[in-house]
Amino acid sequence: MNSGEDKYKIMLSGYIDGELSSDEKAELEMHLKTCSDCRKELEVFQELKEVTGAMKYADIPEHVWDNYWRGIYRRLELGIGWILFSIGAIIILACMCYGIFQNFFLNPDEPLILKIGVGTIILGAIFLLVSVTRERIFAYRRDRYKEIKR
Ligand SMILES: [Zn+2]
Repeated sequence: MNSGEDKYKIMLSGYIDGELSSDEKAELEMHLKTCSDCRKELEVFQELKEVTGAMKYADIPEHVWDNYWRGIYRRLELGIGWILFSIGAIIILACMCYGIFQNFFLNPDEPLILKIGVGTIILGAIFLLVSVTRERIFAYRRDRYKEIKR
């Protein structure tokens, strides 16, 4: 990142609010063509502008900004966390079930279609189990949050 970056980041909010001189505007627009970082930031600003309506950024208290970003990061982390948790749980449970039913799956006398059927049921049950567990944990966290709020 070069030293000019910060300047452009500050200019972005002025750009959204239409407070830049035409020279500054031209300079920023030139920079936006080459910097995907600032383009992304501009998109976020524009979205926020829509959400907050006529409000200017300077009028938004610091803690609202903090909560806004913390909210985004938290949701991202939660989303990734749950995906990893789900994948891990499904893999482990699938391996355990395969171990339990190994004799059945490896028995050449059992018809393939039956193996596919049993395998599908087991997989379905595992997905349901993981999904229900996730809901339970969510519900538990929500209840605890309510208690703290009270
Ligand atoms: Zn930039």
